[in-house]
Amino acid sequence: MSILRLALVLLVLAGVYLWLRKLSRDLEQSRPTPPEKTSATEAMIQCRQCGVHVPQSEVVFAEGYTFCSTAHRDQYLQRPSTS
Ligand SMILES: [Zn+2]
Repeated sequence: MSILRLALVLLVLAGVYLWLRKLSRDLEQSRPTPPEKTSATEAMIQCRQCGVHVPQSEVVFAEGYTFCSTAHRDQYLQRPSTS
């Protein structure tokens, strides 16, 4: 009797284990892929005007230089020439 009960318990445990494994596998498959952390891997470009480093996607380009914002681009391009 005790051996039969033990076998039954083991069978139930095995069933639960397999069911949980299937469940977690289904969850993993249905889970959407996380968005890529672009800021972590993105190249940092220095602003010509203030020297701050900004992500490449947010850089403002003008006349071969890079800026952190359009305001700094305008400031740099509109400054009086020192030559
Ligand atoms: Zn700047």
